Amino acid sequence: MKITGVHIGEIGIPLARPFKTALRTVERVEDVVVRVTAENGMTGYGEAPPTAVITGDTKGSIRCAIRDLIAPAILGMDILAIDQVMEAMDHSVKGNTSAKAAVDMALYDLWGKVLGQPLWRLLGGYRPSFQTDITISVNPVPQMVADSLAAVKDGYRILKVKVGKEGMADIPRIAAIREAVGPDVSIRVDANQGWTVKDSIRIISAMEDRGLEIELVEQPVPARDLEGMARITQAVYTPILADESVFSPADAVEIIRRGAADLINIKLMKTGGIHEALKICGIASLYGVECMMGCMLESKLAVSAAAHLCAAKGIVTRADLDGPSLCAVDPYQGGPDYDGPTVRMNQLPGIGIASVPAEFT
Ligand code: MG
Repeated sequence: MKITGVHIGEIGIPLARPFKTALRTVERVEDVVVRVTAENGMTGYGEAPPTAVITGDTKGSIRCAIRDLIAPAILGMDILAIDQVMEAMDHSVKGNTSAKAAVDMALYDLWGKVLGQPLWRLLGGYRPSFQTDITISVNPVPQMVADSLAAVKDGYRILKVKVGKEGMADIPRIAAIREAVGPDVSIRVDANQGWTVKDSIRIISAMEDRGLEIELVEQPVPARDLEGMARITQAVYTPILADESVFSPADAVEIIRRGAADLINIKLMKTGGIHEALKICGIASLYGVECMMGCMLESKLAVSAAAHLCAAKGIVTRADLDGPSLCAVDPYQGGPDYDGPTVRMNQLPGIGIASVPAEFT
């Protein structure tokens, strides 16, 4: 079943409210969309957000990498020899993980449709539903408390609280949220590389001493400081999750070998898609290192690809897939069912998104 077309488009969706982390503020999803076509007319869809501050990818670089290098390398190949197709894509251009992720998920979508099965079943079929957390953006404390209470009222039992901009002030910030939501809500803290090693140890220890019961702390220090990540991981009881430090399977090996985190956050935009993410799942399973499935500011299309992987693999025990709930509107039809914090998989083949309202060129 030959791949006969690779088309590039764009989609823009307003966010319900601005998304703020230690690194950036975003008000709209503005993503590149890919459509691959097989000789029987079946199509697969993929999506990539230009997250320049994290992956280095811009809208222009994603479009160019797909149009000039990836598409010529995979056109005419057999979609059912998917490992060969992925190898050709990987060899076509170095880096460019977001471009590769968009094409990778479109190919897996098409592969699943040709085989007539949902992707989550084909990749492992571990769980038919799971719970996602929801992000609480960095803001003045009263607003973060109000946002947390609103999320709990909407049914969320896991909050992912963005911190890292004000060092020690993050202790009373988290304490205020814990006091407001009570003991039964799980709190994940994401510093997005915003703390120093010494501050991290002091802040996390203080949160432990105050009994704030933090489930995990994500990426406390800069991505490249694996030595610092290891020092923090060894100094505190709270589990440390590596996000920006782990892009590739090789990064996952390094993190595990150095004891530089307790947990790994897999995002398709960092790995370059599902094919490489599966390798991280394999490595993590071998060492018993549980993974979280995360996303960038993606719409339901790319988040659904991540949801399929999350549902497929037992080692992916946590989900941070709140992209669709952050968007003001849902322009897609089909895909997994997003019911507040619960993501339910279904029997639609491939990723399951039926219509993608993007302008393709
Ligand atoms: Mg993160």
